[in-house]
Amino acid sequence: MTRSITVLGATGSVGLATLDLVGAAPEGTYAVTALTAHSRAAELAALALRFRPQFTALADSGQAAVLEAALAGSGLNWGAGADAVAEAASMDADWTMAAIVGAAGLAPTLAAVNRGKIVALANKEALVCAGGLFMECARRSGAVILPVDSEHNAIFQALGGVDASRLRRIILTASGGPFRTASLEAMGRASVHDAVAHPVWSMGAKISVDSATMMNKGLEVIEACHLFAVPPSKVDVIVHPESIVHGLVEHVDGGLLAQMGSPDMRTPIAHALGWPDRIDTNVSRLDLPALGQLTFETPDPQRFPALRLAREAFEAGGASPIILNAANEVAVEAFLNGHVGFLDIAAIVADSLDQGEGAFKGPVKDFEAVYAADAIARTLAAERVIVRNRHGASMARGA
Ligand code: NAD
Ligand code: MG
Repeated sequence: MTRSITVLGATGSVGLATLDLVGAAPEGTYAVTALTAHSRAAELAALALRFRPQFTALADSGQAAVLEAALAGSGLNWGAGADAVAEAASMDADWTMAAIVGAAGLAPTLAAVNRGKIVALANKEALVCAGGLFMECARRSGAVILPVDSEHNAIFQALGGVDASRLRRIILTASGGPFRTASLEAMGRASVHDAVAHPVWSMGAKISVDSATMMNKGLEVIEACHLFAVPPSKVDVIVHPESIVHGLVEHVDGGLLAQMGSPDMRTPIAHALGWPDRIDTNVSRLDLPALGQLTFETPDPQRFPALRLAREAFEAGGASPIILNAANEVAVEAFLNGHVGFLDIAAIVADSLDQGEGAFKGPVKDFEAVYAADAIARTLAAERVIVRNRHGASMARGA
């Protein structure tokens, strides 16, 4: 039977890897319902012409003319603006890849969850911001959430249906990123180029910087707590530079089950795309003798404070994870734009948490409250960016 699929964030690293698998499948395996992207209109149009979705949505209406021109005469339906992305996510697909980056993915991903079908979840920020509410929506609608993040996909597979509350612990592996062995001084001088040059994985810019600060692993600890309903005390992080073992579960009898594979997102995506079956991919196969050995080490809390910040924010609860995520998004963007240094990212997140936590009291009861906290945290973080703006600081020194 043909599986109808929607890809939210089709032009991104995960979106393109998903469509690579869809394109390689035998004719009639998949039919594309909707494709969405933020502003890369020409790239989205090229994907639409190839996969012929029922609907194509571009979030940035400023680029609508580019999409319109590229799709003229194709007979394809398209729309622009946030409403068009929401419409795309609400269409009746059997399977949705949620691969928008950041909290911007929360509303469209929820629209897919509320349809009660299969949601392959890459957009970890949606869970960090609103995990409790999000998982409750999935329970109510009957949606199946399949983790795509490689560590969580590994744990999902290693669990094999066992209730995670029966585990001794979950172990997330981390590559350690490009600064695994760098000194703090070198990290302070790191350029954007250094930070996005991931040693193993090829990913979008934001998650590449998150890997370099290890905030990615902090976000993933929170993601694991929501997905598997375990407390953070049961989620450990170990650095594994080869990125071959993606995640492990430790059972009460002392047995550990791990999932391994080449560091290629097409494997976890294929697991979700074929689920509950397995599908072929042309991902390079592991040559174990060539690998020789696998290494594991403890993350350094001094050079990677983001890990601790994420755990503390999750344990504080309320709006803290929302502030953590929003401040991180603002700080990473500022770093990518050359406005702050690499070590400023975690510092901006820490300052925003200190300032923001006083501004919010009590539990975050609904999605309105999530969006409100997200907006306030972005303002707070933007102020911290201005304070730390390198150019501003050097101009002040020069004056
Ligand atoms: P990316 O930057 O390569 O792509 C992001 C996609 O989201 C693009 O299609 C972009 O057009 C779209 N988008 C961005 N802002 C938007 C907005 N405001 N509205 C609508 N669409 C918007 O990112 P990526 O690396 O593919 O990551 C996507 C998500 O998957 C992230 O949450 C990331 O943490 C997660 N993830 C990625 C990888 C990876 O290997 N890249 C691995 C695990 C998890
Ligand atoms: Mg991951």
